[in-house]
Amino acid sequence: MIRKGMKLYSILFGVCPKCHQESMYQNKNPYVLSDVIKMNETCSHCKTKYEIEPSFFYGSMYVSYAVGIAFAVAAFIISYNILESSLTIAFVAIIATLIGFFPIIMRLSRNIWINIFMSYDKELAKTSSTKK
Ligand SMILES: [Zn+2]
Repeated sequence: MIRKGMKLYSILFGVCPKCHQESMYQNKNPYVLSDVIKMNETCSHCKTKYEIEPSFFYGSMYVSYAVGIAFAVAAFIISYNILESSLTIAFVAIIATLIGFFPIIMRLSRNIWINIFMSYDKELAKTSSTKK
């Protein structure tokens, strides 16, 4: 089960890596393409600043290569091994997957990237919510 407090929760849902109380993104829907990487500056709940240093999220580019490859491999296996498509179709499936999941890959990469540097903090999750 994935629940608040697990790194995976923040990575999958794009919530604040420290308190897991709210989305880091201004628009929860990644398929509104103009909003894909629009993030709030800080968490309104625990006041964590997401961009630790200027251009912090450029580093997520490296993560996106890995995530992209994972999606490509999955697409290939599903198409070629499970659905027994031809190689050509399998490559078309890879391209279609990478394009179709692009917004998700972008966000997953940012979520993974920031979760490398920040961890869930039980106290932060509690304190400000009881105050308000
Ligand atoms: Zn927070």
